[in-house]
Parts: sequence; structure tokens; C-alpha cells
Amino acid sequence: MAIAATAIANTLIPIPDPEVLARQLSGKLLIDGTLTPAISGKTFPVVNPATGKPIAEAALGEKSDVDAAVASAAKAQIGWAKLTARQRGKAIADCGKLLSEHVEELGRLIALETGKALRTESRVEANVLADVFVFYGGLGSELKGETVPFNNDMLTVTVREPIGVVGAIIPWNVPMMLMALKIAPAMVAGNSVVVKSAEEAPLAVLRTCEIMNQVLPPGVFNILSGYGPECGAPLVAHPNVGKVAFTGSVDTGKIVYKTAAEKLITVTLELGGKSPMIVMPDADVERAVAGAIVGMRFTRQGQSCTAASRIFVHEKVHDEFVTKLKAQVDAMKMGDPLDEQTDIGTIISRQQYEKVSSYIKLGEETPGATAHECSTMPTDPRLKDGLFVRPVIFTGITNASRVAREEIFGPVTCVIKWRDYEEVIDAANDSEYGLAATVWTRDLKTALDATRRLQAGFVQVNQNIVVQPGLSYGGVKQSGLGKEATLEAMLDHFTQKKTIIFNIA
Ligand code: ADP
Repeated sequence: MAIAATAIANTLIPIPDPEVLARQLSGKLLIDGTLTPAISGKTFPVVNPATGKPIAEAALGEKSDVDAAVASAAKAQIGWAKLTARQRGKAIADCGKLLSEHVEELGRLIALETGKALRTESRVEANVLADVFVFYGGLGSELKGETVPFNNDMLTVTVREPIGVVGAIIPWNVPMMLMALKIAPAMVAGNSVVVKSAEEAPLAVLRTCEIMNQVLPPGVFNILSGYGPECGAPLVAHPNVGKVAFTGSVDTGKIVYKTAAEKLITVTLELGGKSPMIVMPDADVERAVAGAIVGMRFTRQGQSCTAASRIFVHEKVHDEFVTKLKAQVDAMKMGDPLDEQTDIGTIISRQQYEKVSSYIKLGEETPGATAHECSTMPTDPRLKDGLFVRPVIFTGITNASRVAREEIFGPVTCVIKWRDYEEVIDAANDSEYGLAATVWTRDLKTALDATRRLQAGFVQVNQNIVVQPGLSYGGVKQSGLGKEATLEAMLDHFTQKKTIIFNIA
């Protein structure tokens, strides 16, 4: 198996017009290093959510395509695993470098297919994508085992071996980044991968795969598009898939887990969230408001599992907080996702649009609730069929209401007034989810106590940054199983340990 020793030739010229690129990628899967139609020849439409117009067809992958991709991956994995860990790492880091030359085109393509604004979200995601490959590319030499002090006449060691073929199933909200967090560690660890993209966002990840296949041996990274039950389910069930990494809804995660249990393979599940943000009476309100804007992912229309969708604000600063939050969200510009002036784009699909709208209606009907609608709808006639939803801040609502308990995955947050510290910690933990949480205070003792007691996998004080390579990310309770984004994630989830004992007596 050959890997370019030094130079990486980027023969794919970046295509800045995302509509041209979308058409070029139309109707293709990428299996065994080659862009290819689905075996059935069937396709399904990919729609621009800002206009409602189709931009491409995606190949409709089914079981036969899964079989072809897994066969290619299984064959390629043998040679891939024979490379040294650092050679694999170099190839993955080289992929990161190539992807960094395609940030603009990938950013524009993901903006076109998902409706996420280019400046605030889509270009950022394309940069993080490249960064994740560079990060994991440097970790090849960390795939170390141990020496075990078992017996003086024996040399006992453990080694970390790859699992084989890894299946990755990804969602549409941050598809490139969430794919990278799975496949980069999987491949550095010596596995090959088959990815099933989300129905709504198959194009930018396909282009990512095409770019990376300039460096990777054919079959190491394959990608399929298609529907969950027809394409995702056979991938999970395939006898040669030895591990599944999944991000998506709780219900689908449980289906994946059950299938994996039948095969006795491990899974990583990154599922939903209803993340609390607790603003203490002594908090820096300006800073907390800025944190709420980032935390709630208003620029991503709230389409984030870690969205700060339950904001508990102490009564002393509640009104000031709400006034300032509303003013800042009002100042955000909704519009064409590809326009550099736009802060907030669209909801991903008609189905999600209906779901989000129904939750807003439910909130409005909740006794005591006030819906503060923010920002303004775009007026551009080209966007008249776009799936735009004005951000909504609910006040006067309790943690018991459905809008405060269920994951909406839209630009809807609840600001809940509190008075008693013990009660607010209990309320924050009174959720089936446990993905992320933040605490806003100037008092170190309060911060320490709250962070220890909050049931979540990712807890921050006085900030609300998004997941970064090197920071362990993943939830507790219904938010999932396993962590992503670190060295430990690679070792724990994409290798299996073997003990080897040499009797030298
Ligand atoms: P969302 O509501 O965010 O779309 P889903 O859990 O439905 O979340 O989808 C996340 C990913 O899981 C998508 O790629 C989808 O196609 C896939 N998926 C859906 N159903 C199944 C299934 N039964 N088996 C495997 N993958 C599935």
C-alpha cells in the first residue's frame, strides 16, 4: 500500500460556486476511491432550505451499496493497518492540510445545503474540519500499549489493535465536524471507515471524502448517502462492521444500540441535550448574555445538541438579562446563508420547520409564558420560500413545561427565573439529558460547587465555547455513551487491547 512520502498533490481545484459543485457531486457515492452511482441508480433530491429549490440529487444507497462499501473497506483495512501508526497519522494530517485549501468551497457548499450562514457557521465548520484531521494526525505515536509487571520470567505487554471496519452515522447539523470526530481517530488507529451521511446534508461530506481520497488508499474512507432504515440500518447490522459511531436522535441511537448488542460490538452514541445555563446573582450580565448567544447557537438556528435552551437566571438580574439578550438577538441579521452580512440562516428542512413551529405555538399557549420574538424576517423575494424562523426567547415559563423539557433543535430558548440555589441545581439536573452545562458567577466557591453537582459531560464556567479538538466531549444520561475529540476517545473507542505474554524462563 502506497502513501505519498512527501508532497501532497491537490489535483482537485476548489470550486467556489456551490451550485456548480452540488451539480458535479450529484447522484454519487464514494466507494473504493471512486465516485459511483448507487447500484440501483436511484437518487433523492437535495434541497436548498433558503429557497426551497432542489440543488442536486443524492445517490440513494441501499443494502447492496453498503455491502460493496464494507467489502472495499475490509480489503483496504488490511494494508492500512500494516502502515506504521505515524505513517497513518501523517496521511490524516495531510488530509487536514488539503482540506484547509478547500475551506471556502466546503463552507459555501455546506451553507447551500444546510442553510447555515457562511460567515458565522459554515466557514467556521470547514475550518474545524481541517483542524480535527491535523489534531488526530499528530496522535499516531500515542497508540501505545503497556508493560505489565506480571512475572519476572515473563515479558507481558499490551498492544492496541484496530477493530477493522468502523461504521459512522452522522446528522445534518454539523456534518463535516461530527464526521471528522469519528473517522479521524478511527483511521489513525488503523481502521477503515464507511460513513452514512444524513439525508438532508450529503454533499459537503461527499466532497470532503473526495478530497481526502487524493491522499488515502482506495477503500480506507467510503461514504454512502441514503435513508436511515434502508442504508444506515444495514451498515450497523453488517457482520463485518466491528464498531459504530453515531450522532443523532435518542430514538435512533437506541435502535443502533440494540442492533449492535445483537452483534456484541461497541458503539459510541452522541445524542440529544437540553443544556442548562445557570446565571448567579453576582454574574457579569453582559458576559452571560454574550455566552447565551453563543451557547444557544442562535447563529445555527439553535440546531445544536448542546444549545443552552434552559437559561436559569437569578431574579436579581433576570429582567436586565432578558432585556439585553433580546436586544442582542434583535440585532442579528436573518438572511441568505451565503451573504457575508447574514448572522442567522434557515432551519434545515420542512419537517424540522414544522416541529420547531409547533413548539413555539405550544410555548405561546403555556399559561404565564411570554414569547419574545427577535430579529426580523428577510424581505428578499428570492428567499420567500426559505425556512426562516425568528428566534424566540420564552419567559414566565417553568422547567416543568414541555418547551423546557423536550429537545426542540430550533432557535427557541427558555429563560427561567430562580431564587433558591439548591432549587436551581435540582431544576438544572431535572432533565433526561446531560450533555452540557454552564455556570455564570464571580464566586469561585459557587462555581466549584455547581460544576461538581451538575449532571453533564461538558461543563464550563463563565464561557460557552463549542467542542474543540483535545477537549473530551460527550454526554451522560440520555445524551449518550462514550466521548469524542480526544486521544482517549481514539484509544477507548477505536482500538481493542490485546495482552501478549512471552515466557522467557
Ligand atoms: P435527526 O432527527 O437529527 O435527523 P436521526 O437520528 O433521525 O436524527 O438521524 C441521524 C442519522 O441516523 C441520519 O444519518 C439518519 O439517516 C440515520 N438513521 C435514521 N434511522 C436509522 C436507523 N434505523 N439505523 C441507522 N441509522 C439511522
